Amino acid sequence: MIPVVALVGRPNVGKSTLFNRLTRTRDALVADFPGLTRDRKYGKAELEEHEFIVIDTGGIDGTEDGVETKMAEQSLAAIEEADVVLFLVDGRAGLTAADEAIAKHLRSRDKPTFLVVNKIDGIDADSASAEFWQLGMDAMYQIAAAQNRGVTALMERALAPFAETLKAQETEDGEIAIEDLTSVEDIEKANLSEEDAEAAYKRLQEQPIKLAIIGRPNVGKSTLTNRILGEERVVVYDMPGTTRDSIYIPMERDDQEYVLIDTAGIRRRKNMHQAVEKFSVIQTLKAIEDANVVLMVIDARENISDQDLSLLGFALNAGRSLVIAVNKWDGLDNEVKERVKSELDRRLGFVDFARIHFISALHGTGVGHLYESVQEAYQSATKRISTSMLTRIMQMAQDDHQPPMVRGRRVKLKYAHAGGYNPPIIVIHGNLVHELPGSYKRYLMNYYRKSLEMMGTPIRIQFQSSE
Ligand code: GDP
Ligand code: GDP
Repeated sequence: MIPVVALVGRPNVGKSTLFNRLTRTRDALVADFPGLTRDRKYGKAELEEHEFIVIDTGGIDGTEDGVETKMAEQSLAAIEEADVVLFLVDGRAGLTAADEAIAKHLRSRDKPTFLVVNKIDGIDADSASAEFWQLGMDAMYQIAAAQNRGVTALMERALAPFAETLKAQETEDGEIAIEDLTSVEDIEKANLSEEDAEAAYKRLQEQPIKLAIIGRPNVGKSTLTNRILGEERVVVYDMPGTTRDSIYIPMERDDQEYVLIDTAGIRRRKNMHQAVEKFSVIQTLKAIEDANVVLMVIDARENISDQDLSLLGFALNAGRSLVIAVNKWDGLDNEVKERVKSELDRRLGFVDFARIHFISALHGTGVGHLYESVQEAYQSATKRISTSMLTRIMQMAQDDHQPPMVRGRRVKLKYAHAGGYNPPIIVIHGNLVHELPGSYKRYLMNYYRKSLEMMGTPIRIQFQSSE
């Protein structure tokens, strides 16, 4: 499971600076969902070989009525859901009452917590840090987030317990057992021979498809999940145990096994009418990370919101296969339907590889067809394609439409091979390829998508120069 790192601290200590440093993105998911009291930012970070979700819990100003009231409920929830807490303080400003209030709260939780003294650039770090030992934290790290100083060392320590389990999978003689490779990532990292990789992929394709049903609150996730589970042809197995994470529900349909990742928590409720659990962004992001295919539910009766786009963007960045279900399609008049469709066209261009279904979870209309797209997306994402095929398609694309000139020289594509699956990565070698404009890259991507009939999955193209 991907670890979650929460950044905690009073305003102005440098949380956003560190957040941006870690995620290197401007399109972080800003949570403004109903039920969340403050804006919070969520992002996916990659550092060396670590991947993690980082959450900026927002400034906590613990000065007035005690930290419990000031730290909004959702902020507390974020700390509870995090695997590691980075508690930031300002090395230039020194220790404040707010820091102490936050520390008191953190000490009462049983969470791995790292005290991070930020802004140590241009000051005597050790003497500035000394007073923060009073906060009673086990370990202290000194960084300058703005300068990227100390950040890698800090994260290495914070993430060490979650380091890739692949090493553990190696048997004593250094061999990797194919049966232990349960994800495409593992297979790719294992550097197998072509033959072993083939076998590992074959096994994987026979595994259940992990399908995450996600979406904003009230779009109809639980209704859809119940609809799917309630269908007579579906065999549901019971799985024991509940955690704070999503519930995993194994099921089978038309000889295909699935594991539904239920972010709406329906099986945790005693009956359909019991109050919905609080919507959890972290739970949704973890579900996306852990899924093979994401089924994104959108409410036809609401405008497409920034949150919808953020969730889709997160799924896209994670490289997940995607199927979109526009729900509550029942009882809409034609004019509304047309308007919804044109809005989808206009705003969902960045995930145009995903099939869109118009459904009514309430009445069951269209639900049966979702499986076809889910299977198609999964097959596309895990399909193995030979070097010769990829090179041939590249050649055809180049013949149909020459790459542009760069500084008076023609960019030339030479050959292509696969660099990974789920999402498929295509590596193209050639000269001056790093100078290719984005439009040509998109052209290539679409050409590959059409030629290979790869619906439902993002395709990534990487370039390698060979002069
Ligand atoms: P947040 O409110 O905790 O999210 O804090 P910000 O990330 O917005 O940072 C507050 C201020 O501190 C900004 O003016 C940053 O430029 C500055 N800052 C952040 N990190 C550093 C650092 O490492 N060194 C210095 N000198 N300033 C920093
Ligand atoms: P969740 O928060 O995403 O799990 O949403 P729910 O499944 O709890 O549904 C929220 C509300 O939308 C409930 O009142 C449902 O009855 C209603 N709803 C769900 N699906 C449909 C649908 O297909 N059509 C209509 N008209 N209402 C629906």
